[in-house]
Amino acid sequence: MRLGSGTFAACCVVIEVLGVALFLRGFFPAPVRSSSRTEHQAEPPAPEPSTGASSNWTKLPPPLFSKVVIMLIDALRDDFVFGSKGVKFMPYTTYLVEKGASHSFVAEAKPPTVTMPRIKALMTGSLPGFIDVVRNLNSPALLEDNVITQAKAAGKRMIFYGDETWVKLFPQHFVEYDGTTSFFVSDYTEVDDNVTRHLDKVLKRGDWDVLILHYLGLDHIGHISGPSSPLIGHKLSEMDNILMKIHTSLLSEERENLSPNLLVLCGDHGMSETGSHGASSMEEVNTPLILISSAFERKPGDIRHPKHVQQTDLAATLAIGLGLPIPENSVGSLLFPSIEGRPVREQLRFLHLNAVQLSKLLQENVPSYKKEPGFEQFKMAERLHGNWIRLYLEESTSEVLFNLGTKVRRQYLDALRTLSLSLSRQVAQYDIYSMLVGTVMVLEVLTLLLLSIPQALSSKAELEVPLWSPVFSLLFYLMFLVLSALHVIVCTSAESSCYFCGLSWLMAGGVMVLISALLCAVVSALAKMFASGKLLSKNPAHPNSRWSELDVVILLGTMGHVLSLGASSFIEEEHQTWYFLVNTLCLALCHEIYRNCFLGNDCEPRRCSHGERGFVNTAPALQDRSIGHDELEPHRVSKSPTSLNTLRGWEKWMAMASPWVILTCCRLLRSLNQTGVQWAHRPDLGHWLTSSDHKAELSVLAALSLIMIFALVQRRCSLTSKVAMALGLLGVYCYRAAIGNVLFPWQRDSKDISKGLIEARFVHVFVLGILFTGTKDLLKSQVIAADFTIKTVGLWEIYSGLVLLAALLFRPHNLPVLVFSLLIQTIMTKFIWKPLRHDAAEITVMHYWFGQAFFYFQGNSNNIATVDISAGFVGLDTYVEVPAVFLTAFATFAGPVLWASHLVSFLSSETSSGSALSHACFCYALICSFPVSAYIILVTSLRYHLFIWSVFSPKLLYEGMHILITAAICVFFTAMDQTNTKS
Ligand SMILES: [Zn+2]
Ligand SMILES: [Zn+2]
Repeated sequence: MRLGSGTFAACCVVIEVLGVALFLRGFFPAPVRSSSRTEHQAEPPAPEPSTGASSNWTKLPPPLFSKVVIMLIDALRDDFVFGSKGVKFMPYTTYLVEKGASHSFVAEAKPPTVTMPRIKALMTGSLPGFIDVVRNLNSPALLEDNVITQAKAAGKRMIFYGDETWVKLFPQHFVEYDGTTSFFVSDYTEVDDNVTRHLDKVLKRGDWDVLILHYLGLDHIGHISGPSSPLIGHKLSEMDNILMKIHTSLLSEERENLSPNLLVLCGDHGMSETGSHGASSMEEVNTPLILISSAFERKPGDIRHPKHVQQTDLAATLAIGLGLPIPENSVGSLLFPSIEGRPVREQLRFLHLNAVQLSKLLQENVPSYKKEPGFEQFKMAERLHGNWIRLYLEESTSEVLFNLGTKVRRQYLDALRTLSLSLSRQVAQYDIYSMLVGTVMVLEVLTLLLLSIPQALSSKAELEVPLWSPVFSLLFYLMFLVLSALHVIVCTSAESSCYFCGLSWLMAGGVMVLISALLCAVVSALAKMFASGKLLSKNPAHPNSRWSELDVVILLGTMGHVLSLGASSFIEEEHQTWYFLVNTLCLALCHEIYRNCFLGNDCEPRRCSHGERGFVNTAPALQDRSIGHDELEPHRVSKSPTSLNTLRGWEKWMAMASPWVILTCCRLLRSLNQTGVQWAHRPDLGHWLTSSDHKAELSVLAALSLIMIFALVQRRCSLTSKVAMALGLLGVYCYRAAIGNVLFPWQRDSKDISKGLIEARFVHVFVLGILFTGTKDLLKSQVIAADFTIKTVGLWEIYSGLVLLAALLFRPHNLPVLVFSLLIQTIMTKFIWKPLRHDAAEITVMHYWFGQAFFYFQGNSNNIATVDISAGFVGLDTYVEVPAVFLTAFATFAGPVLWASHLVSFLSSETSSGSALSHACFCYALICSFPVSAYIILVTSLRYHLFIWSVFSPKLLYEGMHILITAAICVFFTAMDQTNTKS
């Protein structure tokens, strides 16, 4: 079967996406869950342990509090309450913490520090898997056992106001609710007023048991202007006043009803020094947790420092406080201070219930649970508890009883801590089999790509895939049988759950077929290599084939980048690697240009022999390169034999200056967005521009950028698209003005802020229009055969449509990124790629490197927190999954995507040779698969690394997304390639 190398590469990347998906599914572990999925009520609560005389206390203890109010402030960091900010802005809360009837803690949230997983953790007490970040945008109803469901089942009446994530998680649980959307990050007043406006009415009424308030304003301020913004102080005092209002109202109600109430003040996660969240820095993880109730008595002068506890401990505490069973998947332990005022028998009863629940969870998730120290401690405590009950019922002397009681309590607390710890550790269980199958697929694809370099980059750009020959079909059937047998054995003997085993037989069979077929292809490619290797010994290598400096830079850079992925700091600061590589590339180009200018054509023979060589990174490929040289006919980007010497005077000077111009652009871009971890808090131009004092500067910059974008993009568009582009860019400015980011000259301050729906949709229409015109031109070039110019215009129009979409989605301070991207592309096209006549492979790698660098210039990093989700809601009224995910992904990966589409348009307009696009597609596939495959292996070997959740896993998600986008790009390449060959 003969395939074009572009098609071949696209198929390979698509298979690789499947492999990576399977790997990811296995890598992100299944969370600790209880296996009794039946009705929660079916199981009676564990009775009090006793030896001899049977205890009469088998029911659940009654609730400790009659009313519970949970006040959750999004992104409330511990130092906002316990630090100097708290003293200054939250005087009432500080008073309660220091002198009032309260218990305060610093609750540690587990990463990912994103709202939805944190709400789940607070209410279920369980640790959600990392994959919850991805599902964060679309939260389905929570089916797991949790406090809210239990309270509903017990007939409690609950009211909720705030972030609508709660309403999605608990759709039928609240008797009354008002959800506010969290996606319009720019608004921090209205979101909170929408919650507070209900407060007076609700506090006066007595017809509820649980009231939950989720305030989003603080989080939004963090996202806009960071934790040191003056707006934070205002918000904290607002929150303090609300807390005071609730507390006074609860106290006055208590005086009538004579039963204590509970007020909980907590945060879901903190915020980093840049104001975002998602990772695991101290600032993002530590949140305050304050329990306030008149039931907590404290002697005057009893000052305690807030103890560190886990966020998951709240679920068990709330369940006990409300007289409910503890959620079955909870890994938290009861916050003991909340029950220390109760009689000893009750205290022990509560501790026992919690310990029974944890040990049950341990038994269901750990096969060797009997050896766990926590389990032994629990059994010991239970025995002592039995003795204590006997003494208690026999009414022996109070001192003996008291001493034994203290001992049992300590034993229980130890057991709870140990059990909770070993359960939390269980989360790091990997599904090795699925990971292995995924890795095998990815590696086979990579090997195949590497082995087919010589054929794929030959002038014909075609390769033979010998799947149908009899020898290979025999090998194929054998492999398939062996793999199926292995599958049956692994799946029948596996103890833990495995995703790949859970697939239907047909699906699993399909994967086996794919793996066997790939193996056959690899074997055949190896055989071919071996055959041509013999040829090599007869035919000595071409003496002229040398590597140019540029090739060496490209090869070493690729290798160095892949190696750097093994270290967590290099991943956190990956932008530095790419900035370094791009700068080095510029210097290498500079060297090449100067040599070309001053030494003239004496390097021409080198170029000739250099021919097709690309950025190849394997020895076998080199061998073949050198032997088969006579059959490899070098193709050039430009067919005319010009070089720098034929450029006119000023153009020559421009060519010599161009690397320095590009370097300057890169330096400017670099100071626009500080990214990474180490230096992310440093002041940068982006922060300066987005601060409210510099709105005028930002407006001027945005307007200038939009004009520049138009000037750079319009030159190759048709007239219709030129007009559409101009109107579209105007629409972008109007949209930003409507949502209050920028100002019109006649506007003094932005009073009325809207969602900008009309403006954004207006731009969307033009984006679609330009893309449509481009596609139409492409199709026309098919019908009216060989009309080269129409095709070029069509491709450029598709590219400019994407630029317009990026301009709409980028924050205004990021528009210069787009301008510089276009500027660098223009300069390089005119003064470097065309005159120096690089081959398709080299140009592809340069585009890829610049695409990666622009990914970071945009302000992205390998941290989930830098994904700008607000881009997914441009022009949307409510959350609609498909467009929201598409827009967010496009805005995040705009750099790589724009550079890739520029590559397509450049190659098909500049080259006469039909194979250039095929070669480019193949190189693109190869250079993207290489880091992904290497990273998968690295991550597998580092899976018990301390930073696996905070650093390596987010990067893995980015890599998964990247390979998916690469697949889309390769398919686009192949489609363009097909139109090339036909016309
Ligand atoms: Zn949050
Ligand atoms: Zn947030």
